[in-house]
Amino acid sequence: MMNKDLNDSSVYDNLKRIIKSRRIPHAFLIEGSTKEKRMETAMYIAGSVVCTSDDKPCGVCTQCKTAENGSNPDISFIVPAKDKKMISVDQIRDLRSEAIVMPHSAERRVFIIEDALQLNEQGQNALLKILEEPPKTVVFILLVPSKTSLLDTVVSRCSIFLLSDTDHTEDETSADSKEFLSLLFENREYDMLCFTRKYENDRTKARDFLDAIKDECLRQLKTGDISNYRAKILSNIYDSTDLYCESIITNVNLTLLFTAMVCKFKSFVK
Ligand SMILES: [Zn+2]
Repeated sequence: MMNKDLNDSSVYDNLKRIIKSRRIPHAFLIEGSTKEKRMETAMYIAGSVVCTSDDKPCGVCTQCKTAENGSNPDISFIVPAKDKKMISVDQIRDLRSEAIVMPHSAERRVFIIEDALQLNEQGQNALLKILEEPPKTVVFILLVPSKTSLLDTVVSRCSIFLLSDTDHTEDETSADSKEFLSLLFENREYDMLCFTRKYENDRTKARDFLDAIKDECLRQLKTGDISNYRAKILSNIYDSTDLYCESIITNVNLTLLFTAMVCKFKSFVK
């Protein structure tokens, strides 16, 4: 993780400067790019916060090592409870009481909200209370595809880092199609719509995204070890995607196209 070639150089230059200055904000908001890239950035920040060396994150001290293997007691990941789609308000309340506990061995504790879309308005308002008066020993990191999905009051409390989409490679589009399909199977229609926003302004990218969805359906169908139920849904999606591919080259509004597509896909998952 630590020595990875980090391609978003301006964001990382900025982060390095902040870490070196030791004036680390109480809350970061990482938006843009893919889920994996956002997480990579969050772990870079978390590693820097807990690292005991001068050149943070060093990647070799015990703190960095445990950060890397997910066992650092001062780094917590906030995700929905088992079988739940959303992070509950109670979880945020627990987080608030946990945040005032002193760190185990690092100077500060880090709480990473892996997918801030899993916070509804109530959850965000609960979080806001602690973002407004954060304990000195805490750093929050919120990850989200686009900050427009969060309350302005929450966003205004965070230092925002936008990961660039300009190096939007084929790999990223295919990673996106995978994430998009898993959201469908989790019945997260709203998140699917948020997700398509990143493709709404570019017909070529939108077309690539739809092609990637078809490829992903085919790939999953070929693996064979999926249920009949899932296979049926995937072939329905595969078949109906052509229609949307054709519409893209016409003058259709992409927001409307994606909304219709998500509705259609949703109707297959019953
Ligand atoms: Zn270290």
